[in-house]
Amino acid sequence: MALPTRVLCPGSFDPVTLGHLDIIGRAVALFGDVLVGVGNNSQKNYLFSLDERVDLVREAVVGLPSVQVEPITGLLTQFCADRHINAVVKGLRFGADFDFELQMAHMNHGLSGLETILLPAAAEHVTLSSTMLREVARYGGDVDRYVPAAVRAAIRRKQAAGDLA
Ligand code: ADP
Repeated sequence: MALPTRVLCPGSFDPVTLGHLDIIGRAVALFGDVLVGVGNNSQKNYLFSLDERVDLVREAVVGLPSVQVEPITGLLTQFCADRHINAVVKGLRFGADFDFELQMAHMNHGLSGLETILLPAAAEHVTLSSTMLREVARYGGDVDRYVPAAVRAAIRRKQAAGDLA
C-alpha cells in the first residue's frame, strides 16, 4: 500500500505542548505534509478558546512550512474524507492512551477506512499532558519548560488577567 500523502494530527491542544510538537515533527519527517486538526468538543471545558488554540498551534509550527492548522468541524472521518486524508497520526503515552486510541481507531476505520498510525511518545514527554499543565498553571505553577514560547506568553496573559482561576 502506498504511504499516505498527507496525514492529520488531531487533538484538543489545550494548550499545545512539546509532546504534541514532537509527534507533529515526527509525522512531518515520515510523511511530509501534515494537517493539524484542532478539535472542539462541546462537552469539554477548555482553558483556551478554539481560536486561541488554533493560533497557538500556528505560532508553534511556524518553522515547519509543510504543516497547516485548521479547526476540526463535524465528524473526524468526514473532515478527513473532504480533504482526501486517509490516515491520522497520534501519540501514544501509556496504557490509557492505548485503550482509547484502539477503540477510536477501529471506529474510524469502520466508518470510512481511515487508518490510524500510533507513534510512541518520546521518553522525555511520555508523562506530559495538557490536562496536568492546565492544573499546574491554574495554581500559579511554572510550566514553561513543557510548552513552546507562544504558550508561555499566553499563559502569563491569562494569569495576569485572572482568567485561570
Ligand atoms: P491531551 O491528552 O494532553 O489533552 P490532546 O487531546 O490534545 O492532548 O491529544 C492529542 C494527541 O496528542 C493524542 O494522540 C495524544 O495521545 C497526543 N499527545 C498528547 N500529549 C502527548 C505527549 N506528551 N507526547 C506524545 N503525544 C501526546
